[in-house]
Amino acid sequence: VVPDPAAGAAVKAADRAHVFHSWSAQGLIDPLAVAGAAGSYFWDYDGKRYLDFSSQLVNTNIGHQHPKVVAAIQEQAAKLCTIAPGFAVDVRSEAARLIAERTPGDLDKIFFTNGGAEAVENAVRMARLHTGRSKVLSAYRSYHGATAAAINLTGDPRRWPSDTASAGVVHFWAPFLYRSPFHAETEEQECERALRHLEDTIAYEGPQTIAAIILETVPGTAGIMVPPPGYLAGVREICDKYGIVFVLDEVMAGFGRTGRWFAADHWDVTPDLMTFAKGVNSGYVPLGGVAISAEIAATFDTRPYPGGLTYSGHPLACASAVATINTMAEERIVENAAEIGERVLGPGLRELAERHPSVGEVRGMGAFWALDLVRDRATREPLVPYNASGADNQPMAEFAAACKQRGLWPFVNMNRTHVVPACTVTEAEAKEGLAILDEALTTADAHTV
Ligand code: PLP
Repeated sequence: VVPDPAAGAAVKAADRAHVFHSWSAQGLIDPLAVAGAAGSYFWDYDGKRYLDFSSQLVNTNIGHQHPKVVAAIQEQAAKLCTIAPGFAVDVRSEAARLIAERTPGDLDKIFFTNGGAEAVENAVRMARLHTGRSKVLSAYRSYHGATAAAINLTGDPRRWPSDTASAGVVHFWAPFLYRSPFHAETEEQECERALRHLEDTIAYEGPQTIAAIILETVPGTAGIMVPPPGYLAGVREICDKYGIVFVLDEVMAGFGRTGRWFAADHWDVTPDLMTFAKGVNSGYVPLGGVAISAEIAATFDTRPYPGGLTYSGHPLACASAVATINTMAEERIVENAAEIGERVLGPGLRELAERHPSVGEVRGMGAFWALDLVRDRATREPLVPYNASGADNQPMAEFAAACKQRGLWPFVNMNRTHVVPACTVTEAEAKEGLAILDEALTTADAHTV
């Protein structure tokens, strides 16, 4: 890492002059200029290195710049950079085969998109056409993307400014014992009440009007809430009872993040449609998609599917997916995520919780963990109010700054920090990150009652 502050300043100046950033008040942001990255780290132009405990937007499951994936993209670029979706191409066929081999049950047909939101859009479209119904049920405390239907399905404040409230979306509560919408005291109660609430919602909406229920298998940005045993199987049963398409969104939880290829594998549940993106190729080239059951695929055997994208199954994206999936298998990266979660991250985070009064709950699995930060453990009052900004958000801003100052890049959302390193993270790196979190959490402790 050779420091070059002048180059960094030029990158920053051009960014501020011309780049319009996502989700931001353009005049209030100060993006870090990044010079490079490798494995679990990235660095700036001053030569400061950050341990990436965010995996960017929880997508670099294989780490930064994995040489096998970089080489595959280079080789594909030399061979065939682009070709329209209507042709059959070796890397697209192989990527689809490798994905279908890993998806649960009979989800054996793959429709490729450029990312997660488009995958959700197409899953919803398929469900509506397959059932001839229009409504879609989704959970509060969810994120499904920022395009039209996906943002309406989203159950967090990112939806509010774009909510058309007319897209046939109905929200319900999914289980989350620590902040139980059902005032439950045990996982069993939470599960039972959540399923009853979902079935009541369906009854009052009219089952014959509902095309699909979409859920993140393990909700990600909303807080990494691992579902109680029986919940997903219960939703599967309800969908079967009413002829509703069950969509699992594995955009964030899929491809190793939870320590299995797909989070659904933990509960042996097979949806009718499954969306993926992010970890499928660690975002080296934009890619997402929908894995489709035999029954829904058959709907479009003789009837054209009315959807497509210029870059569906883009060769560079598919080549990087093939290399990513093969490398993850060869290097036992999914197993590494499971093991590091079980042996290092889980126990390490629980130990932090014992010493830091600001940690209300530790939850997660694999390389997918959240610390729910609180002002008061007894009342579980969040460290910052829901959707806080400005001065109200100060305690979380201080915590994030303390991490960054010590060389850790955290993933912070509302009153939570998520511990979501690459699935390739080593024990030493995980411990380095835990040690920094230990120090940074003292800033959060100072705000407890
Ligand atoms: N679904 C889930 C569960 C996500 O976490 C995300 C992104 O964070 C999306 C969908 C949207 O994906 P993209 O940003 O690639 O459109």
